[in-house]
Amino acid sequence: MKQYVQDVLELVKRRNAEQTEFLSTVKEVLTTVVPLLEENPRYRDEKILERMVECERIIIFRVPWQDDKGEIQLNRGYRIQMNSAIGPYKGGLRFHPSVNLSILKFLAFEQVFKNALTGLPIGGGKGGADFDPKGKSDNEVMHFCQSFMTELCRHIGPNVDVPAGDIGVGGREIGYLFGQYKRIRDSYDAGVLTGKGVDYWGSLARTEATGYGLLYFVKNMLDDKGIDIKGKTVVVSGSGNVATYAIEKAQAFGAKVVTCSDSNGYVYDPDGIDLAAVKEIKQVRRGRIKEYAQTHPKAEYHEGCKGVWTVKCDIALPCATQSEIDLESAKALVANGVQAVGEGANMPSTLDAIAYFQENKILFAPAKAANAGGVATSALEMAQNSERLQWTFEEVDERLHRIMKNIYESAKRNAEKYAAPDDLVAGANIAAFKKVADVMLAHGLV
Ligand code: NDP
Repeated sequence: MKQYVQDVLELVKRRNAEQTEFLSTVKEVLTTVVPLLEENPRYRDEKILERMVECERIIIFRVPWQDDKGEIQLNRGYRIQMNSAIGPYKGGLRFHPSVNLSILKFLAFEQVFKNALTGLPIGGGKGGADFDPKGKSDNEVMHFCQSFMTELCRHIGPNVDVPAGDIGVGGREIGYLFGQYKRIRDSYDAGVLTGKGVDYWGSLARTEATGYGLLYFVKNMLDDKGIDIKGKTVVVSGSGNVATYAIEKAQAFGAKVVTCSDSNGYVYDPDGIDLAAVKEIKQVRRGRIKEYAQTHPKAEYHEGCKGVWTVKCDIALPCATQSEIDLESAKALVANGVQAVGEGANMPSTLDAIAYFQENKILFAPAKAANAGGVATSALEMAQNSERLQWTFEEVDERLHRIMKNIYESAKRNAEKYAAPDDLVAGANIAAFKKVADVMLAHGLV
């Protein structure tokens, strides 16, 4: 089976040369499912692997818009509809200049398995544009979102494909996107997007869900080893949606978070991050994280993001973007005594960094399991939209709690059965792969 997986990986490489992020995630998933393939050769005989690595559909489109000076601007929009075996395509939209086909295919591939782990009926997709909302006026962001949705609306719908936010797409962007969809379709299809405002069919606790869910997962992992999160020093990267609510819940659990960052640099506050100040800078003023040091005399600001991983900590939570922790950063974390790493961002650790953590027996919570709370709560938003009701914050949070516990237990069970007891990377991949593969077999050759 190992040889068969190598052959499939070679094929994927030949057909997707240059798509490094996509190739990396495919390699991570396929190499860990070998024991499952040995147990059930039907997956090989019916070419499930080859089918899974091929997107069901890719949509690429032109997004023309006019800036405040009246000049015409052009961006490229994408939607990757990766796998709809267990439900409508579901996954965020990313607006960032780095967006390209490889990054979106990697995110969509990850999303298929992450969504399967939630136990909720959602397939996997991802999309976005190489548009940078940073430095744009609200008016420019609205014009861009309207143009983007004018094309995207042909390809999505509550039972077809349900996008949400991701990097660069928060409540403001979802509002503009939903407004345009509603106008074009002339129908209040609230379930077409998630991450909506609570006054127009959004779910309470969706904003907090990815960060809170990450902490619920990490706490399960630590509790299992008899480690108390209270009093631990935590290093967080990012200061966006995931980072903000990861910090909030870590602090609520009694941990001390000493860093956060943005794409320019990071702040280190030995007294513990003042989250109200971060929210004011990032959510209200849309400013830069270096402003934090101007009002917090003990805090240090450092240019560049990598240094954040040289700060001494017990727990590291990468919550910014992909490939933030390379082998060198992993070595620095281990040398400084890190006990656990929980991935809030998607694929923030490179494959050699993950291998290094595992060799050094560091507890490692992989993204597709640990950050699944966001999409799980998006699926809960879809459920509320279907029944035209809104649940309380406590009800949603309670369900999120249970979902993260189930994901942890499922990853752990499969790790013990098929790999090594603490190998949650393999455990999560196997649990998710099995679910998607079995449904694909049930649907026949489609
Ligand atoms: P946001 O846009 O809210 O925040 C992103 C943060 O990461 C910002 O602080 C940003 O800094 C920083 N960042 C972005 N790009 C880079 C880069 N190239 N190098 C260094 N820092 C960077 O996004 P989210 O918090 O929503 O998403 C963060 C990660 O979590 C992503 O990997 C996303 O895919 C993943 N994720 C998000 C979910 C969600 O529900 N939102 C769900 C599951 C995963 P700056 O302000 O300078 O841009």
